[in-house]
Amino acid sequence: MLQSKLPDTPTTIFTVMSQLAVKHNAINLGQGFPDFAMSKELTDLVNVAMQQGFNQYAHTNGLPQLRKKLCEKANRLYGAELNEEENLVITPGATYALYTALTSLLHPGDEVIVFEPAYDSYTPNIIINAAVPVYFSLQFPNFSYPWEAVKKAINPRTKAIIINSPHNPTGRIVTDEDIAVLHELLAQHPQLVIISDEVYEHLVFDNRKHLSVLAFPELLKRSIACYSFGKTYHCTGWKMGYAAGAKHLMDEFKKVHQYNAFSVNTPMQWAIAEYLDNADAWKQLGAEMQARRDLFQELMLQTPFRALPSGGSYFQCYSYEAISNLSERDFAVWLTEAYGVAAIPVSSFYHNGADHQIVRFCFAKKETTLRAAAQRLAAVQAKPHPIPHGTTIE
Ligand code: PMP
Ligand code: GLN
Repeated sequence: MLQSKLPDTPTTIFTVMSQLAVKHNAINLGQGFPDFAMSKELTDLVNVAMQQGFNQYAHTNGLPQLRKKLCEKANRLYGAELNEEENLVITPGATYALYTALTSLLHPGDEVIVFEPAYDSYTPNIIINAAVPVYFSLQFPNFSYPWEAVKKAINPRTKAIIINSPHNPTGRIVTDEDIAVLHELLAQHPQLVIISDEVYEHLVFDNRKHLSVLAFPELLKRSIACYSFGKTYHCTGWKMGYAAGAKHLMDEFKKVHQYNAFSVNTPMQWAIAEYLDNADAWKQLGAEMQARRDLFQELMLQTPFRALPSGGSYFQCYSYEAISNLSERDFAVWLTEAYGVAAIPVSSFYHNGADHQIVRFCFAKKETTLRAAAQRLAAVQAKPHPIPHGTTIE
């Protein structure tokens, strides 16, 4: 009998809700992906790369010119001192980078601090390494870090702490105070490493600044930060990203990576390296996405949903307290079936299914999509139990 390495791991909610959206022909504001076109200049560059014959294995750490340009970008943006030989590896997406970072660090029994709601790959990545997730809830409703409790829980087995800013699913941004505590924690616990999920680094709103671990030398010495081209260039299906961090950590990262993916899609790396010369493409991102958030917020005022703040990312959470007392999962199913709009129940981002009657909507969509979704959501009526079709998701 096969003994599962992940016996308690369900199918990811993104797959579940996207399939349900297709089944009911619903507008999919669940899974986080843009429904507008990516840059034609960038897709044309992929074509050029393939035509010019850049079709064989790339260097295991990534195409040198791409690594170089990314280091230069991070050095300019964050005042870091990264170099392409030591500090940066191109990966097939950020999920892979996070997995590789954790796998290169963790031994059986090691503990990792996970803040919930948490992007759903972190915990299975820890468990598959026979390490132990130690969960802390971000404090509802503003999702601030419970630092005092964290300080008490850290012990010599605590090997890593995962932070994510801008945060999925809440859109919360790490603050100066959070950065100060991270400095304190690293100074006090020499074995501790930060895994920083920064896939939404450019999607920061309201003139706020993204505080990257790369911007703080004492943090960078003990961190690996993970990024996704999918989020920066509106091409989540490309599954391209990278990890950047301290040399001694990236040395271990490379050992795992070279016998897993080994290397990443060559023509796309070539194209991204060329396209990086166009800095406007990422500099405009925050303002562009903020305009979508603002439009969505305004449209949602006609609905019975109540917005929680979002300072960045693709996402905004909404309370449906005024509508229903269904659980978040049942509510998300009901909304998809009865009103044709798919959302993500935030309880899926908690190991214990903690439920605050909120759902996450993705506003990285065309204006027409957001308008059509809001129109459907404006029709939502308060509904007592039970849900109409009695459907639940596994
Ligand atoms: N981390 C977070 C917080 C995410 O929202 C996502 C989804 N893009 C990822 C990691 C994974 O990124 P990728 O698609 O590049 O694997
Ligand atoms: N990051 C995306 C989200 O949070 C989805 C990624 C995925 O489907 N694995 O919706």
